[in-house]
Amino acid sequence: ATPPSWLPAWTLEQGRELVTTLFGATFDGAPAGTFSAPGRVNLIGEHTDYNGGLALPIALEHRTHVALRLREDSRVRLVSAQGDGVWEADLEAVAPGAVTGWGAYLAGVAWALRQAGHDVPGFEAAVDSCVPFGAGLSSSAALEASLAIGLDALLDLGLGADDAGRSALAAVCVRAENEIAGAATGGMDQAASLRARDGYALALDCLDGSVSHEPFVPAGCELLVIDTRAPHSLNDGQYASRRATCDAAAAALGVPTLRHWLDAAPDAASAVADAQARLDDDVARRRVRHVLTEIDRTRLAHEAMRAGDWSAFGTLMDASHESLRVDYEVTVPELDVAVGVAREAGALGARMTGGGFGGSAIALVPGGTSDAVAAAVVAAYAERGFAAPAFLTSRAAGPAA
Ligand code: ADP
Ligand code: MG
Repeated sequence: ATPPSWLPAWTLEQGRELVTTLFGATFDGAPAGTFSAPGRVNLIGEHTDYNGGLALPIALEHRTHVALRLREDSRVRLVSAQGDGVWEADLEAVAPGAVTGWGAYLAGVAWALRQAGHDVPGFEAAVDSCVPFGAGLSSSAALEASLAIGLDALLDLGLGADDAGRSALAAVCVRAENEIAGAATGGMDQAASLRARDGYALALDCLDGSVSHEPFVPAGCELLVIDTRAPHSLNDGQYASRRATCDAAAAALGVPTLRHWLDAAPDAASAVADAQARLDDDVARRRVRHVLTEIDRTRLAHEAMRAGDWSAFGTLMDASHESLRVDYEVTVPELDVAVGVAREAGALGARMTGGGFGGSAIALVPGGTSDAVAAAVVAAYAERGFAAPAFLTSRAAGPAA
């Protein structure tokens, strides 16, 4: 049988060298600085961010690196080892709907910084990344955050120095992705990339944007990430439609967000029952049940993490996946198989992570068993004729720097 394919994280030095070399080969001279930002996996709390909910991501050791130099004029010139040729634009011409392609994520960051009142000139940037693309591990936020933290440093904005400033940078990245790259994103990814802390999970409250940090040291376990490599063509329209359904349900319930509905109820079960009684559409009822129970599970998972109860944590991961599969309908066979096989192979819990429709799954597995679990997933995929998956492991790593 084919052995599992592992995606190792680069060291900071490796990443720095790669982007410095790419910079020199593409633009004249040397960069003024190199920066990097992590991808993320969300441990639990999926499709909750745009509902004012809770999420519990960790930053990955896998990072996107950028070598950066400011220009005197307003031109932006970009190259990526994962892109095609040099992407160019003039910052004066960047506006919603005006630019396309991967460079829009970066031009968008500069545009959003300008919108926030900062004086941002043009720049040259060379990018390389070991975060897999489109795998639900947030290569897009890693890309945005690497530039945001780089511009912050080179322009002396001082936003990277504390969590309030990093929160402002995360908001800039969200605007870049939503308004310039034209991709819907709820804010969890950018928060994880900019506000995580080394060794900690980020407990993110999307209602007020506040965070707390919880040590993520799963004793006797390790976190296995399975990049299903499933094509996720339906992603865009489906994400927007889930969001629209939630917004409409909140409006029908007379609350600003579904989180408000949950917090106004004595417990999650009665919040679900009361919502279901008032909503007349079965699809909306199920979508709302996912969101309300998922926010509750995230709270419980945070408590289990604090208590070091990884068995309870795993059970909540399993329940999260089932809710996403049955009620929210954002899984695909590749995700369900990965999760099922990981559980059979001994995982304490497993679930899809990220938006769904492909992307990645995570499994909390007993220490030292990642290889065996990965091999079982590879075999199950081969048997079903799925594309070969890829794997990585990570501890909770540090934020953009
Ligand atoms: P995810 O964030 O889950 O990886 P997205 O669809 O949100 O998936 O973002 C992927 C897109 O982000 C890519 O199609 C590309 O446009 C852009 N991107 C991410 N990383 C890079 C990179 N290193 N170089 C060029 N473009 C990138
Ligand atoms: Mg993304």
